[in-house]
Amino acid sequence: MHEAADTRWRAGGCHCGAVRFEAELPGRALAQSCNCSMCEKTGFVHLIVPESRFRITQGQDQLTDYTFNTGVAHHLFCRVCGVKSFYRPRSNPDGWSVNARCLDAADDLEITIEPFDGRNWEANAVSLAHLSREPQETDA
Ligand SMILES: [Zn+2]
Repeated sequence: MHEAADTRWRAGGCHCGAVRFEAELPGRALAQSCNCSMCEKTGFVHLIVPESRFRITQGQDQLTDYTFNTGVAHHLFCRVCGVKSFYRPRSNPDGWSVNARCLDAADDLEITIEPFDGRNWEANAVSLAHLSREPQETDA
């Protein structure tokens, strides 16, 4: 076992570079691979963070919003290259889900991917709700 790297702001973006973001992530992060109709097709790997740990640094005006079903989730993709590098997930509408696949390569970031059964979303979404809670709330 080695020491986990510090939590810090890590950058990423879409394929063409029009959209850039930063997320504050620990050196060891737990991500979810979801099997719902949307994630299975896009291969999105979820790193869910609170509102305060995410920021769009470039290309807000290049984002297109796709919604379906309940309309709660906002699937934001780059209008130029079509890549969804982050979005507002239905499970955590108060936070963000960053696509682990869209982070810039970093030697000090270790991501473990666990499966999430999004096909049975109603039964399982509660297990993700805490991931967008702000740090001071989880410390209580
Ligand atoms: Zn793009």
